[in-house]
Order: sequence, then structure tokens, then C-alpha cells
Amino acid sequence: MNRQDYDLIAIGGGSGGLAVAERAAQLGKRVALIEGHRIGGTCVNNGCVPKKVMWYAAQLAHAVDDAVDFGIPARRTATDWQKLVEGREQYIANINRYWDGHVEQSGIDRIQGFARFVDAESVEVDGERYSAPHIVIATGGKPIVPSLPGAELGITSDGFFQLEELPRRVAVIGGSYIAVELGGLLRALGSKVSIVALETQLMERFDPMISEVLTREMNRQGISVHTGFQVNALERCNDGIALYGEGDQALRGFDQVIWAVGRAANTGNLDLAAAGVKAERGGFIPVDGFENTNVPGIHAIGDITGRMALTPVAIAAGRKLAERLFAGRPESRVDYDNIPSVVFAHPPVATIGLGEPDARQRYSQVTVYESRFTPMRHALSAQEHTTAMKLVCAGEDERVVGIHIIGDNADEMLQGFAVAVKMGATKADFDATMAIHPTSAEELVTLKEPVQREAGVEWREAS
Ligand SMILES: Cc1cc2nc3c(=O)[nH]c(=O)nc-3n(C[C@H](O)[C@H](O)[C@H](O)COP(=O)(O)OP(=O)(O)OC[C@H]3O[C@@H](n4cnc5c(N)ncnc54)[C@H](O)[C@@H]3O)c2cc1C
Repeated sequence: MNRQDYDLIAIGGGSGGLAVAERAAQLGKRVALIEGHRIGGTCVNNGCVPKKVMWYAAQLAHAVDDAVDFGIPARRTATDWQKLVEGREQYIANINRYWDGHVEQSGIDRIQGFARFVDAESVEVDGERYSAPHIVIATGGKPIVPSLPGAELGITSDGFFQLEELPRRVAVIGGSYIAVELGGLLRALGSKVSIVALETQLMERFDPMISEVLTREMNRQGISVHTGFQVNALERCNDGIALYGEGDQALRGFDQVIWAVGRAANTGNLDLAAAGVKAERGGFIPVDGFENTNVPGIHAIGDITGRMALTPVAIAAGRKLAERLFAGRPESRVDYDNIPSVVFAHPPVATIGLGEPDARQRYSQVTVYESRFTPMRHALSAQEHTTAMKLVCAGEDERVVGIHIIGDNADEMLQGFAVAVKMGATKADFDATMAIHPTSAEELVTLKEPVQREAGVEWREAS
């Protein structure tokens, strides 16, 4: 077996693997990048990028629906799905091409195929052996399909991005961010959508205000939300696919069912045991604060670590790791506190820090400011649209420890406020910032009276 030696091998050419390989190569190291599929990983090929293209299409569809209220005579007909998908795939192919070129120009050796550990310093791809004192596992995750009768009748988010036509009647199974994103955009583009969640509320890991307002907004858009529904079986019937729950619970008549019930670790084909790398339940690889696994010289970054599955987190982990290993910066690491994130629902959700219940558990003194209003963008609409915002503050000085927004432009609004939270801003700092008028964002710096919660009640949503 031939053997080639490197300073660093990255397994996986997604957000994390590309970032660590690129930075290590910039620092003059000999680097190999191993990828079994298309370059770019989940984000580029099956995640953020195609999802956001579809989300933009859905936003435009909503805008056309609203245009007539502003005196713009627009009327929507059926979505040209083929055109949309063609444009999306072209855009992705351009990104793939960019990365292919960039990897080559950066002097990184691109190895096409799936890596498998041989020992703690070597991997094998198609009979070739590659060795390095630093091997970075960045193999990401894959969608879960539960093992139950008829499960194969459903597709996953990966399958969603391969759909050749807009499904007419869709059930999205799941209550978290991928479920509400896919459900929302399908509805906007013309499907009849049901969201079927095991949880008693959608987005249960978010501040309860988000769940409440999003569910109301989804209902308003005509999405059927079924919570507390445990899907036990799928069956193809004359009128389409049926979902069966507990007892005589059943939902019928779907042309397409999408599983959005979480993601599992992509470690199956790595043979971690050959290198002695420990994985935990679900295959995720535990790491310390510096992305080290239990085996010296083997690191793991991104979704495979089971923490904050977000592209910027994987990228930051890759860059920081390369700088720690090769730029003489032993303290270089990701700070996993206060990571902002957006859910591209309709309307979008943006959040950073602690939700109100978590803040009340962690701090003895919590002050909450909240605002709900119809944004000006919808002031002329016949339908009532809600934007909601919440500031969660802790301590005497009211340090802002959580911001939660649901409403138009929340996705673009949070990034700047996240800087303020990261810097330790207080409510007084927010108050001292001049508003930009007329915007929705100005509400965050003009919040007045704190929400009064009933004494003795641990947490209750404001009405
Ligand atoms: C539908 C969806 C929407 C999303 N939207 C967003 C969003 O809006 N914003 C955001 O920040 N994040 C989003 N994410 C999450 C984001 O895509 C991930 O957090 C990110 O891609 C993680 O990067 P990674 O490098 O850890 O793994 P990945 O990007 O998954 O890359 C792993 C790569 O490893 C390869 N691989 C696996 N095993 C091997 C092997 N043995 N040998 C060689 N290669 C291998 C895989 O083919 C894959 O290309 C979304 C995810 C999904 C599924």
C-alpha cells in the first residue's frame, strides 16, 4: 500500500473540514482534504444554501400576495418549480466550482473518496494510505429516518432538495427548525402543509414566545400544526400516504412525507475503533474545549461533535484549531457562549443567549422586556401579522443575556445586536442607543416597562 505523509489531514470537505484545511495551508502546512461526495458539505449542497434560495422564493411569493394591498396589481399563479430548482442547482454548482478551484490553488491535496482509520495517525481511502500527526474529523451529520413500519415512504431534507415537482399535499414530521423551515416555504410556494410534531409545542428549545407566535403565524398561513402526535407508522393508501399515531390517531391523504426528526453523526464508515477514538450515543464524538478527542493528535470539529450544528461554528472551530496547532496560538479556541442563530421560518426567528425560563433558572434577578406589534411592512394588509421581541436581562445592572425576535427581517437584525450581547451590553446601553426610524429593529432600543410576572409563578408567557 502506498503511503503519503502530511502535517494535517481533514476528513470531510464541508464547512469545518474546508476551514481547517484552508487555514493550515495558509500557514504553510502540507494538507490533505478527503471528501466522499461533492465539495462544500451539507451547508452548500443540502443545507443552508439551497434552503435559503427556497426561502427567498417563498418570501417573494408572500410579497406578491401582499402587493395588491399597496396598490401594486400583482397576482400569483403556480410556482415554476423547475425554474427555481434549476437556478438553485446552478448557484450551488458555481459554489462547488469555486471551492474546487480554491482548494487546488491553496496547495491542498484533494482526495476523492471515503476515509477509514487504519491507526491513530493514518487513514485509508480506496487502498491508499495517508498519514499525519494531526487528523481532523469533520464528517458532519445525516438526517435520521426512524425505524418504523412504512418509514421508507417518507423522504428527508436531502430528498426535499431532489424533488422534481412541488408536492401538492405534504406532511413534515418534526417540530424543530428544519421542520418549520421546510413546512413554511412549501406552504408559501403552494403546497398544502401539515406539520406533525411529537413535542407539545413547536421549537420547544426556544423561548416560549417564539413557539407561540410562530404557531399562530403558521396557522394564519394555512399550515395545520399537529403537536403531541407520535408517528408510529406510515402506509400508502388510495388517497395518498397516511400517518398513524397512538390509538386511533391518523392523518391521511399526503402526496409527500418529509422526515425532519433530527440528525445523526456521520461516523459509520470511519472505523473509529481502529484509532481508539471514543464516540458517544448517536455516534457523536466528544471533544474538550480545544476540539481534542480522547486520542492525542485526533481532533473533531463541526456537527460531528454534537454541539451547535451551525456552519459558522464549524468554520470557526476549523480556523481556531489550525491556528492553535500551527500559528503558535495555544489559547486559540471557540467561545461557545452566546452564539446567535436564525431559523428561516416565515416569518424568520432570530435568537441569542438564554430564553426566559432558562434565565430564571440561572439567575435570581431577571427582568424581561417584551413587545408585540404589527410591523409597518404589513400595516396595509388585510391580515394581521405579528412581530414579537423579547429582551431577557439579568442582575442589578440588567445585563442583556437573551434576545429573541420573530418577525420580518429578524434574520438581518440580530447580527449587530449579537455584538452588543457578546460585549456584555446592559439594558441601559440599549436605551442609550438612538433608534432608527421607522424600522422594526428600533423596538429593541425603545423597550420601556418590564413584563410583570405573577409572584410565585416560575414562568408564564405574557398575553
Ligand atoms: C436542511 C438544513 C438547513 C441548514 N441550515 C443552516 C443555516 O441556515 N445556517 C447554518 O449555520 N447552518 C445550517 N445548517 C447546518 C449546517 O449545514 C451544518 O452545521 C454544517 O454544514 C456543518 O459542517 P460540518 O463541516 O460539520 O459538516 P458537513 O457540512 O456535513 O460536512 C461533512 C462532510 O464530510 C463528508 N464525509 C462524511 N464521512 C466521510 C468520510 N468517511 N470520508 C470523507 N468524507 C466524509 C460528507 O460527505 C460531507 O461532505 C443546516 C443543515 C441542514 C441539514
